[in-house]
Amino acid sequence: MLGKNLFKPDLIVAGPVSDLSFAWLKQRDIAGLILDLDDTLLALGEQMVNTRVVEWVARARLEFRLYIVSNNPNRSFIESIALSLSLPFINRAAKPSRRALRRVLQELQLPPERVAIVGDRLLTDVLAGNRLGLVTVLVEPPGPSRALRGSWLRAAERFFFPDVVVVRPGGIPPEADLK
Ligand SMILES: [Mg+2]
Repeated sequence: MLGKNLFKPDLIVAGPVSDLSFAWLKQRDIAGLILDLDDTLLALGEQMVNTRVVEWVARARLEFRLYIVSNNPNRSFIESIALSLSLPFINRAAKPSRRALRRVLQELQLPPERVAIVGDRLLTDVLAGNRLGLVTVLVEPPGPSRALRGSWLRAAERFFFPDVVVVRPGGIPPEADLK
């Protein structure tokens, strides 16, 4: 961990979570995925997870233990989305705090290096994951996000951390590992 840029994801996917390659995760012996919700599983402002993401979750659950960890305080909304995907969840997680992530590791009985956190934000998802020694994956929202504030934050993050923002057209070859 020493010297690692805590804002640097291990992988940047130039697309939504449904473009995340299982092969890349398997190569790293990942057994669990902590999934952000807003602008990761669901574009902000949407009420339902789109079909591509639903199908990706259905395939992912055959390979990995899945857990939703969201900073969103709206418990009933997060619960309805989690129920629709049949996934366990924690809301109001306060990422980049590590507390909720530690709880998930304990529940899943997995060491941090075997768990990847997947999210759309450097300052919450990636920072929290790197602080705990998880594998970190940055993704794009799964649809047009209505979160003007979110897009501003993302733009700001990319302004301040331009070296970690790499747009990769096409698939995710193993060499996309940025470590
Ligand atoms: Mg998010």
